[in-house]
This record gives sequence, structure tokens and C-alpha cells, in this order.
Amino acid sequence: MATVELAASKPTTAPANLLLSVNNIEVIYDRIILVLKGVSLDVPKGGIVALLGANGAGKTTTLKAISNLLHAERGNVTKGAILFDGTEVQHLSPNELVRRGCIQVMEGRHCFGHLTIEENLLTGAFTRRDGKTAIRRDLDLVYSYFPLLARRKNALSGYTSGGEQQMCALGRALMSRPKMILLDEPSMGLAPQIVEEIFRIVKDLNEKEVVSFLLAEQNTHMALQFARYGYILENGRVVMDGEAKALAANEDVKEFYLGISEDRRKSFRDSKHYRRRKRWLA
Ligand code: ATP
Repeated sequence: MATVELAASKPTTAPANLLLSVNNIEVIYDRIILVLKGVSLDVPKGGIVALLGANGAGKTTTLKAISNLLHAERGNVTKGAILFDGTEVQHLSPNELVRRGCIQVMEGRHCFGHLTIEENLLTGAFTRRDGKTAIRRDLDLVYSYFPLLARRKNALSGYTSGGEQQMCALGRALMSRPKMILLDEPSMGLAPQIVEEIFRIVKDLNEKEVVSFLLAEQNTHMALQFARYGYILENGRVVMDGEAKALAANEDVKEFYLGISEDRRKSFRDSKHYRRRKRWLA
């Protein structure tokens, strides 16, 4: 069986090769609902890292803690530290974070339905100060990665398909010239071929434009094909992390997240390995 390492708490200074370092964060909603209970994770410069887990595990909360979007939902990071590009960022506004190169693509796309695809893309450049020519050049770059968007640029986004809207949301994020995109459930509600196409574009952007990704996904199979490293969240804690290949080969991951099972265990709690890890974490 592949070796998979457990996440441990880390020091609050990040090595130079790390773009994002989340150190032991705790998140509380409404001053009382403890959702993240000491989450730590790293994304290296130029990496694609998957954040995996079932519904309600805390993936979206982790992304929103990083992009500083929790306040709108009465959520707070109450412990731990988040470093982006070597600097602690909890005190920065979401706008300032975007300016520094970290942007979130929300679950459910959130395109402006009454604007065209092109107008949506241009809203992504609102934090930039480098002028119309540079923005036009990046619009063309987005169209080169998403030819479908070029063909549909004058369509109102509210009348486009889920796949087109997901591409539009990603393209809009690219217009901010990000170093890192926090991508929340890009596969949600989309046909498998479209999901694959979007993941291929993500990989392309990663390799050619050197955009790093933290990818929250329930589609473990697809995410582990494209990410290099992964973390599995359960009930607000990282229960496992490792190289994507090692995670995909791990018996517990195969059984509980990939639906490939050789025996009759019914839940993660019944797994000996998992219980051992739980004891270790306690
Ligand atoms: P999903 O795939 O369904 O989005 P997730 O892994 O992203 O799941 P979160 O959305 O982060 O999980 O939710 C984690 C937990 O936090 C859940 O129990 C959820 O009910 C709770 N939660 C999320 N948002 C809030 C909020 N604004 N107020 C209170 N509790 C919340």
C-alpha cells in the first residue's frame, strides 16, 4: 500500500518555494459553530493541490478563510495563520488579496447573468491599474485558452450552459493576472466530458502560465488525475495527505472516495487504518 503522510501543525514561516501555507487554522461561524479544527496545508509555487472531502467536510470554508470571504457569512479565523507569497494575509481585504495574486472562483460559478460573457470577463480586471492595452491582451489570452468563450462572447451569461459559465468564471479570475486560483468544485453539475475539458485547461494554465491551484473537489477521481498532491478533509480536519498517485492507490481512499472496494466495510470509521490515524490525530 502507498505511504501517505499525516498532516501535522507547522511553523508560521513558510519556505521560499511555498506560495500558500495554511497553518493550523480554526474557523468559527456565528461565534459558536466550530467548523475547521486545526487545518494545515501547503501549495508550492506552480503546484496543483487538491482539497478533497465529502459534502460539509469544510472545503469551501477553507478556501473562504484563505481568500478572506468568511466575514460576509459571519465566519472568523480564530486560530492559526495563513501565509500567501511569504506574507500573513488574514488582515487583508479580498480585493487586496486579488491584487497580490490570490483569487477564488466560487462554487456555483456566480457569473453576472445580465452581462455578456465578455463583460463578465472584463469585471475580472477591476483591481488592475495597468491600462486597457494590457487588459485587451489578457482578454485575448483567455480566449486562446477558452475558444468556446470567444465564440460566445456576446451571449448573456445567464443564457449560457453550466460548462460555459464555469469557463467564464475561470476566465474572469484569469483577468486579474493571478499567481494562484482557489477553485471551488469546478465539476459541480457538469457532464463528465465538460469536467475533463475544464481540468485539462486548468493543467494547461498551470504549466504555461504558471498559475498555481488549490482545487476543492468532491470528484476525487478527476482531481487526483490532475493534482500533484492532495489533502483529505473530514469533519473540519485533515485526516490524510500525500502525493496524488499515493492517495489514488490508498485502499481507504479507493474505498471511501473512489468507490472501488474489495471488502464490505461500510464507513470510514470501520477501517482499521482510519481508526489508527484518528487516534494519532486525537
Ligand atoms: P460542500 O461540498 O457541500 O460545499 P464543503 O466541504 O465545502 O461542502 P463547507 O461548505 O465548508 O463544506 O461546510 C462545512 C461545515 O460548515 C458544514 O457543516 C456547514 O453546514 C457549515 N457551514 C458552512 N457555512 C456556514 C455558515 N455560513 N454558517 C454556519 N455554518 C456553516
